[in-house]
Amino acid sequence: MTEAKAPIVRFAPSPNGHLHLGHALSAILNAQAAETGHGRFLIRIDDLDQGRARPEFEQAIFEDLSWLGLHWDPEVRRESHHLAEYGAALQRLTDMGLVRRSVASRREIAEAAAAAQEAGAPWRRDPDGGWHVPPDEAFLPAATIAERVAENRPATLRLRMVDALARLDEPLVFHETGLGPDGETGRIEADPAIWGDIVLGRSDAPGSYHLAVVVDDAVQSITEVIRGRDLFHSTAIHRLLQALLGLPVPTYRHHRLILGEDGRKLSKSCGATSLRELRAGGTTPDDVRRLVGLTIDAN
Ligand code: GLU
Repeated sequence: MTEAKAPIVRFAPSPNGHLHLGHALSAILNAQAAETGHGRFLIRIDDLDQGRARPEFEQAIFEDLSWLGLHWDPEVRRESHHLAEYGAALQRLTDMGLVRRSVASRREIAEAAAAAQEAGAPWRRDPDGGWHVPPDEAFLPAATIAERVAENRPATLRLRMVDALARLDEPLVFHETGLGPDGETGRIEADPAIWGDIVLGRSDAPGSYHLAVVVDDAVQSITEVIRGRDLFHSTAIHRLLQALLGLPVPTYRHHRLILGEDGRKLSKSCGATSLRELRAGGTTPDDVRRLVGLTIDAN
C-alpha cells in the first residue's frame, strides 16, 4: 500500500495591492488543505513585476493573513530573489530551439489583428482575450523585421508553441479536483495551443509568471495547486512547461471566484472588498469566512 503524501500547498499573492475576499478564500482553502492533511502551507510572494510590487503591500499581506488567523511556514519565497533560476529554465528552452525573439510591439499586434478582423479574416484570441501572435510576425514588413533583428535590442521572448507541442510524445494531462469554468473536472487533457506563442520573459529580464510558477511549484515540491478558477486555462501552459522542463506535476484545484456586486471578478482596486477596509468597518475574520461562503466550525 502506498502512503498518502502530506500535502504541500501555497498561496502566491502579488504585492501590488491589498488582499480582497477572493484572496481570503484562496488562502483559507490552502491553509485548510495543509491542516487537514498534516502538511505544509507556504506563502510565495509573486513580486516579479517590480514596477508594481511595493514593500508596504507585502507587509499588509502578512498582517491580513495573520488577522484571518492563518499560520504558514516561516520560509517565504520571494520570486524577485530567484531570477537566476527562471533564467536557467529559459536558457534550457532556448537551447531546445523553442524560444524566439518577438519584434512586434503590442500596438502593432493589436493593429494588425484589428485590420484583419475588419477585412473579414479571423484572428485568434487567447482565453484571456489577448491576440495570438503568429510565429513569423509577417504582418510586419520583412525589412522592418530584419532591421529590428539586426539591432539586437532587448526583446520579448516567446515560446514557439507549434514546435513545443511537436516535442511531446504523450498527451498533456492534469488532474483537476475542483472545477474549470465549464465544469471541467477529473482527468483534463490540456490544450496549450489555445494560447499561441506565449511570453516567457524579456531578453533583459528573464522570467514571466508562467515560467516562474512552474519552477517555483517544482522547487517547493508543491503537491496541490489551489487557486482561483480564472487560472484554469493557464494550467495548460503550466503543464506544457513542466513537460518540456521535466518537472513534477501537482494536482490542481481551481476554486470558485468571489464576484463583486457588478458580477465581475474582484480586483485589487475593489476597495470595498479589501480585507483592510472590511476590518476597519468592524468585519471579523469569521464574518469573512461567511462572506466567502465557508461554514464556520462550531468550536
Ligand atoms: N500571483 C498569482 C495571482 O495572484 C498566483 C497565481 C497562482 O496561484 O498560480 O493570480
